[in-house]
Amino acid sequence: MKPGAFAYRRPATLDEALALLASHGEAAKPIAGGQSLVPMMNLRMAQPEVLVDVAGLPGLDAIVDLDDAIELGALARHQSIADSPLVRARCPLLAEAAACIGHYAIRQRGTLGGSLAHADPAAQLPLVAVTLGATIVVQGAGGRRELSAREFFVSIMTTALAADELVVAARFPASGAREGAAFRLFNRRHGDYAIVSAATRVALDEAGLVRRLDLGVGAVEAVPVSLAALADAQRGRRPDAAWIDAVSSAAREAVDAQDDARASALYRRELTGTLVGRALGAALAQARTGAVTP
Ligand SMILES: Cc1cc2nc3c(=O)[nH]c(=O)nc-3n(C[C@H](O)[C@H](O)[C@H](O)COP(=O)(O)OP(=O)(O)OC[C@H]3O[C@@H](n4cnc5c(N)ncnc54)[C@H](O)[C@@H]3O)c2cc1C
Repeated sequence: MKPGAFAYRRPATLDEALALLASHGEAAKPIAGGQSLVPMMNLRMAQPEVLVDVAGLPGLDAIVDLDDAIELGALARHQSIADSPLVRARCPLLAEAAACIGHYAIRQRGTLGGSLAHADPAAQLPLVAVTLGATIVVQGAGGRRELSAREFFVSIMTTALAADELVVAARFPASGAREGAAFRLFNRRHGDYAIVSAATRVALDEAGLVRRLDLGVGAVEAVPVSLAALADAQRGRRPDAAWIDAVSSAAREAVDAQDDARASALYRRELTGTLVGRALGAALAQARTGAVTP
């Protein structure tokens, strides 16, 4: 399939890009890595009249340490996130998730901003953003605003972005000592979107009890799901094997899994329990020893 006809604009600055989006309204779409938008255009699921290519905008691919968080520009590519020593040290969950997106060629082109804006409920980076409570920074001709990831994702492939706004950055809370994190997914073929995915970060106190837990599940509902209420209730618990079983069972019951052509709701619910258990086991091992369990 081939896309419909479109005009192509390549602005040199962020202001110019925002002005183009404002003047064309719904008829325009930004393109960054093109790894989701181009297939959608080829299938005629998206038919923008004007493509505003933001991939070359200067200064939007930086990854910066803000002490209690790391901030990534919207044009940070999946593979740069996976390879970044700063992300690996300060937010290993994000690096691990980025490393398992699609295939190498896709990771070399796809961007953080594109993945967040595309809002596929099975995508890795939106799940990490929701699980960790990331902040998404968006900008339009009228100025900047900041949204929590949980406000940003509205429904399947639908976000709180206005047509004239761009994602410009996202801030992810940084990890500290005695913390471990893990991302686990199940798919039928390497590189496919997940049928279910689970993300977690656990912090232990000096006695080895749960100090804080973040837990989220992807590809089961229309948006990535934060299991914050379940996670918050785990503070002070002893994280042994029975605890992992109990949290996995509770996660399985907490999701409102949906059917689609790839898997039934029942199968997704069962997978949720299994993957949450695996992710918790790996994250705990890391929190205790500092070692990453593959
Ligand atoms: C074969 C294949 C397998 C894949 N597997 C996975 C996978 O397993 N997991 C996964 O997460 N993804 C997967 N992807 C998608 C890939 O991660 C994309 O890179 C990502 O979804 C979108 O990033 P992009 O920069 O390519 O965005 P684009 O394709 O350029 O744009 C996607 C959408 O975001 C909008 N957009 C782009 N940048 C911005 C911005 N800064 N602000 C506002 N809107 C913006 C566009 O208008 C468009 O609506 C796969 C893609 C392919 C082709």
